[in-house]
Amino acid sequence: MAETFGFQAEISQLLDLIINTFYSNKEIFLRELISNASDALDKIRYASLTDPSALDSEKELYIRVTPDKENKMLTIRDTGIGFTKADLVNNLGTIAKSGTKGFMEALSSGADISMIGQFGVGFYSAYLVAERVQVITKHNDDEQYIWESAAGGTFTITQDTVNPALGRGTEIRLYLKEDQLEYLEEKKIKDIVKKHSEFISYPIQLVVTKEVEKEVEDEEEVKEDEKPKIEEVEDEDDKPKDKKTKKVKEVEKTTEELNKTKPIWTRNPNDITQEEYAAFYKSLTNDWEEHLAVKHFSVEGQLEFKAILFIPKR
Ligand code: ADP
Ligand code: MG
Repeated sequence: MAETFGFQAEISQLLDLIINTFYSNKEIFLRELISNASDALDKIRYASLTDPSALDSEKELYIRVTPDKENKMLTIRDTGIGFTKADLVNNLGTIAKSGTKGFMEALSSGADISMIGQFGVGFYSAYLVAERVQVITKHNDDEQYIWESAAGGTFTITQDTVNPALGRGTEIRLYLKEDQLEYLEEKKIKDIVKKHSEFISYPIQLVVTKEVEKEVEDEEEVKEDEKPKIEEVEDEDDKPKDKKTKKVKEVEKTTEELNKTKPIWTRNPNDITQEEYAAFYKSLTNDWEEHLAVKHFSVEGQLEFKAILFIPKR
């Protein structure tokens, strides 16, 4: 049975703002959801260092984006730590972080919605493009749950008895607004991921559909008495013509990995431009200014590692 909860007042206000403010740079919602997925993957990876069995529920660590044009739905799935029911209640709606108010104040003094991540409320940017959001999630310590809200002051949590088992992790389903369907286009998704999520260290997969033509046997086979009666000298490329074939269009689904570039710290410092360091620094820290200074080095001894140190301007 669905349990209904009220959003904490400031969160409700924030949602109203996100939904009603005229703002065109909506694409940043994907950066926020991918960044949350990456954080959740970090958490399970970290937990597995002391308890390797934490990964038994799902070995592979990945983020997968699936556009579904038929249902006007975009899903972002991760195999991260997932939410317990208590996590859903606390982290998605009933306990406002200080950033909630901070972000609204910043907005009214001219800040940009794209800065939402720095205030710790990035999840709600989903409502820039979605009229309804479902969070389907499975944590190792709890059952699978569905969190759902179309904003409007409330959300529900239901134990999930309808969707396939996730194993572990979270699937965010965005039921897109009628005028935001461009986010179902492969090209658009690829561009946004390239622009905002290039340095995520887990594979980001995109589920792509291709229409392929396939030759299949036609139902009606050639009847015996329609076969050519005269014996012919067969041409080399003459195929047996007993069975008629026809061409049909089939939809094939495959996944493409979108962030295949080598991590910047593993590369040779001589090949890296100032712009590349700045882009990495900004994506890492959410800072809108470039770094003041950078040091890229490697250490070899008992332990070997490569590192980049940044000094921020502020
Ligand atoms: P922040 O990421 O800055 O903490 P968000 O509003 O983006 O703020 O997310 C709120 C919280 O919800 C996160 O701190 C995390 O606990 C939880 N969360 C969000 N997305 C996920 C996810 N994909 N998997 C697990 N937990 C998540
Ligand atoms: Mg976040």
